[in-house]
Amino acid sequence: MIRIAIDGPGGAGKSTVAKEVAKRLGIIYVDTGALYRTIGLWMLRHGVDPKNSDGVVSSLGHFTLELRYIDGRQVILLDGEDVGDSIRTPEVSMAASAVSAIPEVRAYLLDMQRGIAKENSLIMDGRDIGTVIIPDAEVKIFLTAKPEVRANRRYLELQSRGSDTTYEAVLAEMNERDKNDAERAIAPCVKADDAFLLDNSDIDFDGTVDIIIKRVRKCEESLEEQRKKHTAYMKTHRWMAPLVRWMFHVKIRGAENIPASGGVIVCANHVAIRDVFVIASGMNRPLNYLAKKELFKVPFIGGLMKKCGAVSIDRGGNDVAALKTAIELAREGCAVALFPQGHRNPGVNPVDTVIHNGTGLIAYRSGKDVLPVCIKLKKFKYAPFRRVEVIFGKVIKHSELGFTNGGNEEYRSATEKIFDEIVRLGGYDKLPSEKYGEGGRQ
Ligand code: C5P
Repeated sequence: MIRIAIDGPGGAGKSTVAKEVAKRLGIIYVDTGALYRTIGLWMLRHGVDPKNSDGVVSSLGHFTLELRYIDGRQVILLDGEDVGDSIRTPEVSMAASAVSAIPEVRAYLLDMQRGIAKENSLIMDGRDIGTVIIPDAEVKIFLTAKPEVRANRRYLELQSRGSDTTYEAVLAEMNERDKNDAERAIAPCVKADDAFLLDNSDIDFDGTVDIIIKRVRKCEESLEEQRKKHTAYMKTHRWMAPLVRWMFHVKIRGAENIPASGGVIVCANHVAIRDVFVIASGMNRPLNYLAKKELFKVPFIGGLMKKCGAVSIDRGGNDVAALKTAIELAREGCAVALFPQGHRNPGVNPVDTVIHNGTGLIAYRSGKDVLPVCIKLKKFKYAPFRRVEVIFGKVIKHSELGFTNGGNEEYRSATEKIFDEIVRLGGYDKLPSEKYGEGGRQ
């Protein structure tokens, strides 16, 4: 299944481009703007001011709205009537923009949009598809163009439909709608962090479609590659995990907190080299981690590492490559192991340690949640090894990490929040966050 989210301001050509992409890929095209337009149309027809949120909200139960696909074409039925092109006038555009800023209207349409996205391979266009409706879409595009270019396209489109509006009027209306859509408090029209920005001011229709198709093909290839890697990993994992648990006397707690799928940053205190294996042994999904390129050359170990989720990084004297790789992996939907301490602190209370802000930066840039893990060493009576306890905590949501615009202070405080949680999981006496050693690395 492939879901393509295409967002952006009006007039960028989203709908025509999306229709062609859908045709070429044999998937359905969902025009979500048409839903807001239909609600706007109903309000205009019934004399309800689209800007009056009380009036709009109380009208929501008074009509039926149905989305159907007839011969692959989207049809919207308002009280059973196909709205057709009656939703394409400038008045309805403005009404749609006004009603779309009302939270209850967005909530009213949310399930309908998510429901379709759950069951179909599709390309869905709108303003908040990549950010709200399908945040885990496989391909996200933010399609835009200069306002003058967009206004001219809309003007030509309206002219071809027989409208006698002027270019200036279209530009003014477009600027106002852009402002409404971008500045509204709920689901504003903004590019998702992981969306591809495509400005087609100087690219024609075919060129725009080709760029999107290429990205979809690339995504399909990488999904296929991921599937293969996943299968290979789980094959090794089946025998490795019990072996690791037996060898190191591993006890797993809180496994129910591990998200079954999707990108997540698995953050733990660092006790020994075996940490990643020990954590992975308690997870029923691949765990990726970063390892120096040179390690892959070691006979047997190198091959095994590859099968066990290691991703090679070329340190080249700095950590930028590591940060980028970790962000990409999380964005691609992998679970990525990170150790904020950077170095091993065997047997030491994780409070007495240095932590590095890179963890906060990765959480911010990837937009993913964090799974805190505490690794505790316990004395074991009979074996040469000490018993290892691996405690998975509850996921810390990305929204709980206090990010607004990023920056060192935010990365620091997010990293501390995560590490506080790791310390809490271990049941250690927690020191105030300020007491963590200063980690200068970004
Ligand atoms: O894309 P289109 O121009 O048909 O959308 C009409 C209006 O509906 C937009 O100006 C925008 O205010 C609203 N809209 C929205 N969220 C979407 C799609 C459209 O707020 N997902």
